[in-house]
Amino acid sequence: MRDRKNILRLAGLVTLLMVISTLVLFGVVLAAENTSGRTVSKSSDNGKLRIIVFGAHPDDCEGRAGGVAAMWAEQGHHVKFVSTTNGDIGHAVMAGGQLAKRRTAEVKEVAKILGVEETQVLDNHDGELMPTLENRKTFVRLIREWKADIVMGHRPSDYHPDHRYTGILMQDAAFMVTVAFFCPDVQQLPRNPVFLYLSDGFQKPNPFEPDIVVAIDDVFEKKAEALWAFQSQIESLWATGNFEKVVPVPKDPARRKARREQIRNRYARRAEAIANKYRAKLIELYGQEKGKKIMYAEAFEVCEYGRQPSAEDLKKLFPFFGQ
Ligand SMILES: [Zn+2]
Repeated sequence: MRDRKNILRLAGLVTLLMVISTLVLFGVVLAAENTSGRTVSKSSDNGKLRIIVFGAHPDDCEGRAGGVAAMWAEQGHHVKFVSTTNGDIGHAVMAGGQLAKRRTAEVKEVAKILGVEETQVLDNHDGELMPTLENRKTFVRLIREWKADIVMGHRPSDYHPDHRYTGILMQDAAFMVTVAFFCPDVQQLPRNPVFLYLSDGFQKPNPFEPDIVVAIDDVFEKKAEALWAFQSQIESLWATGNFEKVVPVPKDPARRKARREQIRNRYARRAEAIANKYRAKLIELYGQEKGKKIMYAEAFEVCEYGRQPSAEDLKKLFPFFGQ
């Protein structure tokens, strides 16, 4: 009798140990996947959109799509920003690892303010991005891991080589994300995302022609507040030959406030210019009355290599137009 009880007790103990070890093992696997930087599992089934934006430098996604990202985030959609270089030469007097770390900290701060869920800075040197096979695979894996419905990036006719190659890499990924045996280590997407270009002012070989223009009036101040975190860029306006100087952001509260206002106004002028340039599109999308009054906007053009959305589809992907 006693033996039987002991055997039962032992069996219970063994079962318990097996359960515990399974749980521990499972936890270790999850942790390992987490530390690899890969996304473990994304719940793409909660009806929310998943958006990934590729900008060449740690301020491009934020500047071109920060408003619309904040609006998606407010509705619970999932936004990820990727900087395809680490921005390590983007300053007049500072460069290298220290600058890369500083700029990475800045994009993380900005993401917090905008509600961007994940922000990643790829460890490529600023000014040296190339459209290599390795980088094509990186793009494909990132888009798949995010289970993206929408992918954004620069046009390949932008002024900066890193912008151009980011655009090329996005185009290169636009079909490959659906091909099973390209990067078979990450499941291909069952449905091609919609790929969109960020706005720019370049005219050749063809000017930017937006398919969707979004009013960002409601989040403009949030965007301006977020972009204020780019202190490395604000103190060193353009790190080119003509402006090899740094104007530190003042510590004195009044002068600091004035500088902040100046920067805010600069962003305001940019967003106003987009609204005015594409006013006809705003009126088409929002109607005459509302469309005329919109002050600030961001604009996006559909890339012809991904899924081609109808006007109705676009309004579902950018759910900011009311009924
Ligand atoms: Zn840039």
